[in-house]
Amino acid sequence: MRGPVEIEPVASGVWRLEMEVAEAGLRSVCAYAVADGDGLVLIDAGWRSPQTDAGLERALESIGHSLADVSGVLLTHAHPDHYGLAGKLRERHGAWIALHSRDADLLAFGNGSFDRYVETWRDWLGEVGGVPAEDRVGLVEATVALRKVFTVPPPDIVFGDGWVAPLEELELRAVHTPGHSPGHVCFIAADGGLGFVGDHVLPDLTPNISAGPTVSDNPLGAYLASLARIRDLEGEVFLPGHGRPIEAAALAPRVGAIEAHHEQRLEAVTAMLAGGPATAWELTNRYPWARPMAEMGDLTRRSALCEITAHLQALEERGAVARETDGVVRWTVA
Ligand SMILES: [Zn+2]
Ligand SMILES: [Zn+2]
Repeated sequence: MRGPVEIEPVASGVWRLEMEVAEAGLRSVCAYAVADGDGLVLIDAGWRSPQTDAGLERALESIGHSLADVSGVLLTHAHPDHYGLAGKLRERHGAWIALHSRDADLLAFGNGSFDRYVETWRDWLGEVGGVPAEDRVGLVEATVALRKVFTVPPPDIVFGDGWVAPLEELELRAVHTPGHSPGHVCFIAADGGLGFVGDHVLPDLTPNISAGPTVSDNPLGAYLASLARIRDLEGEVFLPGHGRPIEAAALAPRVGAIEAHHEQRLEAVTAMLAGGPATAWELTNRYPWARPMAEMGDLTRRSALCEITAHLQALEERGAVARETDGVVRWTVA
């Protein structure tokens, strides 16, 4: 990237905004600006930092608009790299924010009592994750740091599957695709042209699917069902939250590759249990990650644990593994 926010047209009246993400281990995030009446509606709003803040202003000026022209923000999900700047647009310019009800619930929990939030994570890491007290300290600290980024204003519009966004020109329908987050949606144009797919299908990365105390059991099962829902969508081009646009012909093969990745990981996790029962934390430490666990930061280690747990929950739902609970969950081959 040359600057903190790059802008390029991707269709008539639609621009792709690629925005720098200084933290969170990501290179960049994509938001999209859609011309609507005299103004603009954004699909996602990017990571909030002084650089992206000023960069968004300059990017919109380059297409003859200002921040004040943004009348609303449609969110594909409530992760901070997508939600970040939405609050500012509402505070300063009165833009509405729309989010699926399941992610709105998640946000309400994150915005609630700080102590309760941290305690919920601490308990989950110990009981479900099986993380011993000495390892839990760092993971809890990482949770506290992340929660500070997550404190964002609640949405003005809370919607469900099939909701049609209040745009004047483009008819965009929300398709609920839970998995990457419980309230993740794709916004699909009724004319079959564009699909905004958020982090549901990414061209280069495998979307992170994490279990945790704030999501219901088996997010990976939900995700795989959501992938099946998106595979055969009509459309010309699909615009993701990270990376380049996905042409229609590339969508089904990309979905297939992501499915294959998870099936391989499900097999690897099952194979690791052949030696006897283990906690999710023990399996996370044994898993052959590209980068060793010892070299990962605490947030990445927590993320790895949440991913392994998501795979265990999916295997449990399929009847391949079972859990034994005695204060701490241990997993065993069923
Ligand atoms: Zn995300
Ligand atoms: Zn993202």
